[in-house]
Amino acid sequence: MGECSWRTRLENVKRLSRDNFDLLIIGGGITGAGLALDAAARGLNVAVVEKRDFAAGTSSRSTKLLHGGLRYLEHFDFAMVREGLRERATLLKIAPHLAEPFRFLIPIYEQSKRNYDHPLKMRLGLVFYDLLAAGSGLGRHQRLSREEALQLAPQLDAQGLKGAFVYYDCRTNDSRLVIEVLKSAHHYGATIANYTTVTGFIKDANGQISGAQLLDGLTDGLIETRAKLVINATGVWMDEVRDLNTNPQTDGRNNTGRVRPSKGIHLTVSAERLQVTTAWLIPALTGHRFYFVVPWQGRINIGTTDTDYQGDKDSPGAEEKEVQEILDAMNAFFPEANLRSADVISTWAGLRPLIGDPGAKSTTDVSRKEAVIESPDGLISIAGGKLTTYRLMAERGIDLAVRRLNQRFHHRAEKGLRTHEIVIAGGEIKGDEIQSKAQQLAEREGIEIETALHLLRAYGSEAQRVLEIAKSDNRLHRAITGDLPHILAEVVYAVRFEMAVTIADVLARRTRLIILAGKASLDCAPVVAELMAKELRWDEIEVEKQLVQFATEYEREYVACQS
Ligand code: FAD
Repeated sequence: MGECSWRTRLENVKRLSRDNFDLLIIGGGITGAGLALDAAARGLNVAVVEKRDFAAGTSSRSTKLLHGGLRYLEHFDFAMVREGLRERATLLKIAPHLAEPFRFLIPIYEQSKRNYDHPLKMRLGLVFYDLLAAGSGLGRHQRLSREEALQLAPQLDAQGLKGAFVYYDCRTNDSRLVIEVLKSAHHYGATIANYTTVTGFIKDANGQISGAQLLDGLTDGLIETRAKLVINATGVWMDEVRDLNTNPQTDGRNNTGRVRPSKGIHLTVSAERLQVTTAWLIPALTGHRFYFVVPWQGRINIGTTDTDYQGDKDSPGAEEKEVQEILDAMNAFFPEANLRSADVISTWAGLRPLIGDPGAKSTTDVSRKEAVIESPDGLISIAGGKLTTYRLMAERGIDLAVRRLNQRFHHRAEKGLRTHEIVIAGGEIKGDEIQSKAQQLAEREGIEIETALHLLRAYGSEAQRVLEIAKSDNRLHRAITGDLPHILAEVVYAVRFEMAVTIADVLARRTRLIILAGKASLDCAPVVAELMAKELRWDEIEVEKQLVQFATEYEREYVACQS
């Protein structure tokens, strides 16, 4: 993969005002990224613009799983589960560094604590899950004894415990998946730009959209870009972007109300405070749902909630009462952990872009299926779905776009490559060889095995490039913060190869240290800023501004606030 830096961005912004694109994609989350790669691989001249940083919306705030969704079986949504499981299998092939098979356990108690976790019902669900995953190569479900379960989670409530069910899914790193897919799209010729907001549409004499007005968030410059077709992949912002499309005076209508945002929060605690080596599904104390407890990069992530949301979409955060609700459920099942709010390293909140069923009582009942809406002036909006199924959503979206391009412009897209065959950036590595490769890398480069493992998991076959940067200046081998294996060379890599232009781009979405280190990420921000200043030519005033901006983002989005 070649350079993908602020210079690339600068060049891409120029291209946006100069080129005539076949396709403009609005939104740089996983949906927009997937669409961009699919379109570029088919030979279309495509641009993707993101108003904040890539993955700064929902796509950095998920539970970070690639799964069919065991709980959708309750709604008899077999097709959706099967689709998710197939895509999980595809991602194991095309993004092996970001799809890690992992064991999930469900505790079984003598007296089921909640009626929906009845062992018979669970077992039936797991049998179906195995059937739908047939041929995926991950193990089938099993039952563990009480002793085996306690060995894997010594703080688990032993009273009435009969054992646990085991099944398999995959862990991922959501924002890194977005970045890698976008890097791949860039490699295939897509024009990508973060901090570029669509503020309006340009229409032709027939009232059809033929481009968009853009605001460059780094220079405040206004740009007009031309595109035959525009796709709106803005998740929970879908309705607002569709509204840009209408003139209330002449149309007398607006497009609000299709997306029903549902908020889900997570929290992160240390692996010492909650001692689990596998993932667990723990029933919530209220409502009809489970929390995932997932060991992730040396910490434990717990979540998520699912509630209707009407607040500010740009910077959702967790509330203290939501955090307490999760801690209470954890303490009911892991009493010896006795988790308190002081144990929480960080919290974060994401908004599911559910396509509203106004009749549904709660957001838990609203379907996770994707929706495609075509507006009379040619705008195609795609939202809903899951991180896991992004590739398939993108394939369907670009199939439709190609049909419309052909109908309206007699533009025939080349057959090109299909994305299930495209190994995404960093994916030139076998998943089951990562452990042994880490050993070799550690020995060869004289680095800690944890660092080697972390680099291979985060960057896959690109890990070597991060280490090449470290070789240019020995200081860059140093840890960014505390006990975590991330090294300073990753900051430089993020700027040169992943278009990071703010401190939060590096700490929140490229390295994930804002989640993993919480408050300590504020302490390492000055060192990160110093390295970025050299690459991005920031003066002292800019460094100060960036540090304040980072601290604000941290407080607003990663620390729970009072309700
Ligand atoms: P987003 O990631 O929100 O991207 C839309 C982008 O559009 C944003 O970055 C936004 O800034 C940009 N944008 C908005 N307006 C404009 C504009 N005018 N101009 C330019 N850009 C604009 N799925 C799974 O498969 N596995 C999971 O474990 C999982 N867990 C989840 C847990 C939670 C709590 C939530 C909320 C979701 C979870 N999901 C999971 C679902 C998954 O995260 C989402 O389906 C997915 O991230 C949505 O991606 P998106 O690209 O459609 O939206």
